[in-house]
Amino acid sequence: MHQNNHLRISLQLAEKICKKHDMRLTKKRRQVLTLLLTTNKAISAYELIELFETNFDDVLLPMTAYRALEFLEEVHLVHRLNTANKYVACAHISCDAHHELSHFLICQQCLCVDELNDSHTSNLSDLTSQAEQTGYQLTSPQIELNGICNKCLSTNNNA
Ligand SMILES: [Zn+2]
Ligand SMILES: [Zn+2]
Repeated sequence: MHQNNHLRISLQLAEKICKKHDMRLTKKRRQVLTLLLTTNKAISAYELIELFETNFDDVLLPMTAYRALEFLEEVHLVHRLNTANKYVACAHISCDAHHELSHFLICQQCLCVDELNDSHTSNLSDLTSQAEQTGYQLTSPQIELNGICNKCLSTNNNA
């Protein structure tokens, strides 16, 4: 597989982040992360399994896929988009940003995802207290914003 610089650096940082959590980026986990980093869009566990077979010529069992994804989610290297039930690699691996409240922009047409840096956007404690006033406890707060990306927009206009 084509290994660009960005990918190499992200994987190195991912190793470090795992070590910090006293965990290991095993071969399968690393392969799963590699696929998510290179696809550049949100994919489902089943799409991941298919990609795994084509790229690594190896089998990824659903159980293993879910475990790897769960692990990567736990250490914030991967995020799960709840509304789409798909996974996306963290866009901030390289800056080691912490995730107070992730914001995702999701293109409804090509499913590419952009992750906004949360420091510039609304703050979690406001949302938490508003949720509590309404009678909710936030469990895994993240904001998913649906839209259409510029690339799709210009393709549509040219069609
Ligand atoms: Zn992230
Ligand atoms: Zn798009």
